[in-house]
Formats: sequence, structure tokens, C-alpha cells
Amino acid sequence: MDAIRADSIVKDFGEVRALNGVSLGVEAGELFFLLGGSGCGKTTLLRCIAGLEEPSSGQIFFDGENVTALPTHKREAAMVFQSYALWPHMTVGQNIGFGLEERKVPKSEIVERVKEVLEMVRMPGFEDRGIDQMSGGQQQRVALARALVRQPKVLLLDEPLGALDKKLRDEMQLELRTLQKNIGITFVFVTHDQQEAISMSDRVAVMNDGKIQQLSAPNELYKNPKNIFVSDFIGETNFLKAETKSSDGEFINVSIEGLGEFKIKNNLNIAANSSDVVCSVRPESMMISKVKSDWDICLDAKICQTSYLGEMTRFYVEAKGIDKIITVSSQHFDNQSFENNECFISMSLEDISLLNKK
Ligand code: ATP
Repeated sequence: MDAIRADSIVKDFGEVRALNGVSLGVEAGELFFLLGGSGCGKTTLLRCIAGLEEPSSGQIFFDGENVTALPTHKREAAMVFQSYALWPHMTVGQNIGFGLEERKVPKSEIVERVKEVLEMVRMPGFEDRGIDQMSGGQQQRVALARALVRQPKVLLLDEPLGALDKKLRDEMQLELRTLQKNIGITFVFVTHDQQEAISMSDRVAVMNDGKIQQLSAPNELYKNPKNIFVSDFIGETNFLKAETKSSDGEFINVSIEGLGEFKIKNNLNIAANSSDVVCSVRPESMMISKVKSDWDICLDAKICQTSYLGEMTRFYVEAKGIDKIITVSSQHFDNQSFENNECFISMSLEDISLLNKK
């Protein structure tokens, strides 16, 4: 049974439809992400799950129980916000224990539980420190500890790392994932950062315009995007004009600009004889070389720009028959490698995704 289930959630704010029929299930113990650009509805969905927002229609279930009408404090969920919302005049321990005091939990138990969660977030012995003496990363951990001390079944995190600088953010991503796996609580994590979602999650719901575009494990999102939006949003890609021809069900013949006609797997059941399609190929799934390769497709090309990125070089190339610049990434060649900017670019048929335009 799903730890959390959202069933056909619609949420209107006046004229604005923030959620347009969202259904999903989150498994117990999962590190689940809601990912999407600004205004796609991810925070609204999280707030509906938390009970901070009432859906206009649809239902929310926790462990099979309909909680749609239950107030926040009666749901076994705790929330962590980007702003942390800590009390600056209180100590770390007081901030964490405050909610328990309000619930009249005995003092000795509060001391024990605060100690335990401070150990979980790797801040043992910090009880008596002032909040204003804590760094950004430490404040984020205190906010996490304050949510965990309530022993929720579900932790809802709204861009919790958004205020941290890149290096600290990378560290905290790893730390949060380890913590989540150790304590086994279900996490629902909102972010607009696709790299964060891809690197941390068990599964991701990619949202756009109040709808879920795809719900998959991160490698699936990357390798088998279901539509143009997901293909473009997750990582980088090249889109090539295409047209489908005949199909035998599993495979379909596709004519791709500059490449020719090929039989490729029709994972998405795309219609035959359609020009409402496009092919997508990732820069890193292609190879750039000085000599012709024996890959499925190998094109003569000319480099028009390069950018050196440290761990790889990105090449912007013109290939015969393709009317836009193709991006290819390589860890093996740099911009000095090619004479007169002449090169070959190669791809495998299995790395080409066929997608509907709409
Ligand atoms: P961001 O990353 O920018 O926070 P988001 O994906 O979390 O974006 P939401 O905050 O869920 O998006 O907002 C979805 C839509 O609903 C937006 O168009 C937003 O303007 C609108 N919206 C959200 N909350 C309210 C509100 N309280 N009143 C009116 N409109 C709202």
C-alpha cells in the first residue's frame, strides 16, 4: 500500500488552476521528488499533502486512510521549509523541542529526543548553542531535526537546500539521502533543480502546468523521456526533425533529418505516418572522432564552437543535412584535437528517442 496517495487533485486559486488532476502514489520509505519549473504547482501539491492547502477536488490518503479533511496536526507528516523558520532568540535545543513542549511531552523525554535527533543530523551536543551562531548548513540541519523530533511517518521538504551555496548544497544532498535511507522515513522533496532530483531520488514526478508529465526512476527519466518537455527539462538534448513511416507495432520506420531512414523501437506507441514527432539524442550519448566509426550512424561534421568544462569538452558542430547546431560532449577530446575543425559524430540507434511533439 502507498504511504501517500494523491487522487485526481485539482487546486484552483481564483482563476489560476495550480493543480490540474494530479494522481500519484509514494511508497513507504521512498525518497520521492516533485520536480518542475517555477509555478508548475509542486509547492501547492506538497501543501495539499501536508494539509496546509485544501484541494478544490480530489483526495489525499495516508496509508490508505482518507486524510483530505484532516487538519495538518492530525496528519503524521512534518514539513521543512527553505526559509527554515527557526526562532533566533532560542537555543538549538529549544527550537527543536518547542513543538514537543506544546504537546506536553514530559521534559525528560524531550531532552532525550532532542539529543537523539541532533545525533541523527550530525550535531551532537549542540543543544545550548544560539541559532544565530549557526552556519547556513547547520541551521538547515536544525530545521530538519525539529521536523524529525516529532517522529513523523512522512517528511515533506520544500526546497530545503535552496538557500545554501553550491558546495554545501552538494554535501547536504548526500547527507540527506544517507539520513533518509538510515531512518527509513518517507521523504517527499520539492525542487526545481533537476540535477538535485536525479542524483538523490528513488523516483521523480516531473511537473509542468499543474500536471505530472512523467513519474519514473531517474535513469528512466533520462533514458526514456515520455515527451518533449521531460526530454528537454532533464539534462541536455538535441532535437532532430523527424517523420514516422510504417510501423509493425514494436518497431517503427522513421526518417530523421540529415540521418536517413531507420527502424527504431516504438516504446511510446507513436502513430505511423506522422510529422508531429521529433527525435531526441543526448550530447553525451554521441561520439566525436577524427576518423569514421562503425556506429549505427556516423556523420561528417565541422566544429564551429567548443567550450571546455573541465571534466569534459562540449563541441557545437554543424553536420551535413541538419539545419541546426548539434551539441556533443566528450571526455576524450579537447578543442585542440581536430585539424581544420573537421570531425565525425556518431550515434547508436538505441540512444535516439522518438517523441510526440505534443
Ligand atoms: P515555485 O518553484 O516558483 O515556488 P511551484 O511549482 O512551487 O513554483 P506553486 O507555488 O505551487 O508553484 O504555484 C502554482 C501556481 O499557483 C502559480 O501560478 C502560483 O502563482 C499560483 N498560486 C500558488 N499559491 C497561490 C495563492 N495562495 N494564491 C493565488 N495563486 C497562488
